[in-house]
Amino acid sequence: MSRPARAGAGAAYSSPLAEELAPEVLERFLRYVRIDTQGAYRMPRRPSTEKQLDLSRLLLEELRELGLEDVQLTDGSAVFGSLPGAEGAPVVGLIAHVDTTPDVTGAGVSPIVHEAWNGEPIELPGDERQVLDPEALPELAACVGHDIVTSDGTTLLGADDKAGIAEIMAAVAYLLRHPELPRPPIRVGFTVDEEVGRGAEDFDLDLFGADVAYTLDGSDLGELEVETFSAKSIRITIRGLGVHPGTAKGKLVNAVKLASELVQSLPQDRLSPETTEDREGYIHPHRISGNAEEAIVDFIARDHDDDLLEEHVQLVVGVARGLTEREPRAAVEVEVLDSYRNMRQYIEENPRVVEAALEAIRRAGVEPKIAITRGGTDGAVLSSQGLPTPNLFTGGHEYHSVREWASVQDMAAAAATIVELAGVWAEPAG
Ligand SMILES: [Zn+2]
Repeated sequence: MSRPARAGAGAAYSSPLAEELAPEVLERFLRYVRIDTQGAYRMPRRPSTEKQLDLSRLLLEELRELGLEDVQLTDGSAVFGSLPGAEGAPVVGLIAHVDTTPDVTGAGVSPIVHEAWNGEPIELPGDERQVLDPEALPELAACVGHDIVTSDGTTLLGADDKAGIAEIMAAVAYLLRHPELPRPPIRVGFTVDEEVGRGAEDFDLDLFGADVAYTLDGSDLGELEVETFSAKSIRITIRGLGVHPGTAKGKLVNAVKLASELVQSLPQDRLSPETTEDREGYIHPHRISGNAEEAIVDFIARDHDDDLLEEHVQLVVGVARGLTEREPRAAVEVEVLDSYRNMRQYIEENPRVVEAALEAIRRAGVEPKIAITRGGTDGAVLSSQGLPTPNLFTGGHEYHSVREWASVQDMAAAAATIVELAGVWAEPAG
């Protein structure tokens, strides 16, 4: 667990600034991932788990110690802080989330630094089945010579999104140590419950007061995500007629069978997460519950195109309604909820938010790439609420699995990008 940059290892860094920032990024990252901040689904309370605030409170302390102003834990359980900057420059927000996915345990994380990785498959010592094979992971294969951080194979690593937090913290610490560097006013925001889709809930945009923002919640080196899915959830409640099965002839209407029919009637070879990629949308039945009397099927629908998304929703609704045509004694209830919308349209209205990020990535010594995500981010919700918020890379990979890994050199490049971004935003628009 020693320092990443040893003699001769510096060549893997994207810039001298990245190399300078690397030890602090790594030190913070290794500390933050040890704090269990796993969230939970379907918890009415907020945050969904109290332990997320263990990290939030630590960050609160650390931001105060660094010397940020207006540091506070908001009513929406976000940590906010300010770094004053050039008057008249746009206020730039930097956002990351403290929580980790409910799907994989984040307790007892024991990070391992594989220094100057030699390109051989990385075996995780806690579970011999967990191997990171560069042949199957092209992004890992591109990191030969980097210092690679993994868990021991029994837990998440938590790079999603503690890499983003460590990068923001190291970057603002650097900016505070270098007051001579031009920078705009900066607002830092660390949210809870992003992984359960509630990161932007109760996010007080007026209090945050940023003109533009960036989430540090992406992945591959140099990527700037400017598009998310548009997302809806669909709940179909099917009511049958329950009767004792011994006397059910001609009477029973079985909601379980109707629910099964509903799922089976959807396309089998397309329009599902398991059969689509890139810009292809999907309908995904992700939960089914109930009995012969009543059954509930929950779907999510996703597409980058709002019209296509509506078609996917109507497909499900049409099939569901069709059940009652064939079986008029059944009743079907349909509930459709908006989750978030593709942020592209909001980002496009503010071209400088993208241009500034691409320029900052270049100045950090990295080739920028515009990317789309097959998911959502806090930024998608914030963008639709008026704060354009694309998503910057963090250097973490294989999220939501025990094989999650992060490159120290790429995390350092992300931190350097934040410092460069401050410089770009301090310059007059042009
Ligand atoms: Zn994330």
